[in-house]
Amino acid sequence: MGYILSKEGLNKILSALSKEYMIFAPKIFENGNKFSDLPLVRYGRVNSVDEIAFDAKSSNSFKETFMPISQTLFFFTEDAVKEADSPLAGQKGAIVFLRSCDIHALKRLDEIYLNNSEADYYYKRVRDKIKFVLLPCKEPFASCFCVDMQSNKTESYDASVEIDGENTVCIDCKNHEWDCFFKEAAQKVLPVTPSFVVETKTRVSVPEQLSAAQATALGFWAEYDGRCINCGRCNFSCPTCTCYTMQDLFYSDNGRAGERRRVWASCMVDGFTDVAGGGAYRKKNGERMRFKALHKVLDFKQRFGYTMCVGCGRCDDICPEYISFSTIINRLSGEVTQNGGE
Ligand code: SF4
Ligand code: SF4
Repeated sequence: MGYILSKEGLNKILSALSKEYMIFAPKIFENGNKFSDLPLVRYGRVNSVDEIAFDAKSSNSFKETFMPISQTLFFFTEDAVKEADSPLAGQKGAIVFLRSCDIHALKRLDEIYLNNSEADYYYKRVRDKIKFVLLPCKEPFASCFCVDMQSNKTESYDASVEIDGENTVCIDCKNHEWDCFFKEAAQKVLPVTPSFVVETKTRVSVPEQLSAAQATALGFWAEYDGRCINCGRCNFSCPTCTCYTMQDLFYSDNGRAGERRRVWASCMVDGFTDVAGGGAYRKKNGERMRFKALHKVLDFKQRFGYTMCVGCGRCDDICPEYISFSTIINRLSGEVTQNGGE
């Protein structure tokens, strides 16, 4: 059902929903940029429509709202274990505003955490309580390549919220529990179709005929041995990266008590492939880049039928060495085409 309402009308609805739900959206943190006094766009809690950054892309993705960078799973003593509270403990749930590419990224997270053998308990207990609101894109951002990754459109949302002009809000609601809120605030009830991007400035061509053996043999990966500084920012900003490491923290006043945490990990960072006996599978940054690139456009697709990368462009935006992942995909494609596939 579609609704047209004012910003004041939407604010009343957000206020009512915030009594039961934590609401997260991309918002602007003034002077929050790590390298300068520029603003930072990042996810945070919001209570009103004017706090939501409709026209900016968040540097980190929505995943940090419900998959914390560091999360305590349980506490332990010599003879007892206690589960840590869910990040949504005491709440009916959370509402997360996100873009079409991010909703496609959510499908990738679900694939890994819910459908890839046993469901991940800690992911599921939070995921089951989250509603998603689409922020439609009228225009692409410079680094986006969602159209080529087929993530520019979606119908998987509870509602979409789009601002038209100064004070008009267009809603497409698919969650019938929310219709009562929108009906009460609506100035008009009529079908609403969210905007979506149909072309992007950044284009990529994902190679169709690609094998791991062929890609591994390519020479250009070695260029990244020097250029990449293995900071891991590309992984941490990516909405589809799902790797964690486990850490046991022992309390200093009782060395037999502590807590187990899981903390985001990065395949680009030292130590990720370390194994017993001092071995490491990918010591060079170029080898790590090859692994990451192939995981995003080849391995995941071979397993699940679609690429892991959704073309959000965040890794291109955030790399301190100006390494462009979209360029890497195109280089891969160019080499494969030049060599005539397998
Ligand atoms: S953000 Fe750039 S420099 Fe940092 S690990 Fe990723 S590719 Fe390397
Ligand atoms: S690899 Fe880069 S462009 Fe692709 S989904 Fe991750 S952050 Fe976005």
